[in-house]
Amino acid sequence: MGVESLPDFTQSARQRWESIPANIRQRLLTNVWCAHCRREVTITNFSGTINSGDLLLVGKCAECHGDVARVSEGAYRPWQAMGARNG
Ligand SMILES: [Zn+2]
Repeated sequence: MGVESLPDFTQSARQRWESIPANIRQRLLTNVWCAHCRREVTITNFSGTINSGDLLLVGKCAECHGDVARVSEGAYRPWQAMGARNG
């Protein structure tokens, strides 16, 4: 799935999305909780918007095709995700 083809992203959502490292983006897309499947699934046919400062992805569960959504917290902080500690 190319990042370049995001027709359903708003401009600000696309900018936020592209600021996230590719490996994190991949994890966001494949760790979406589906209430129907009761486990983490891959989101498909998703669109992106900014909702209250958070990146909101809305799409379909790859397994059951039910509606799923995931929020990516406001400002992405790579140092938190890496768990890096100085000293
Ligand atoms: Zn599902």
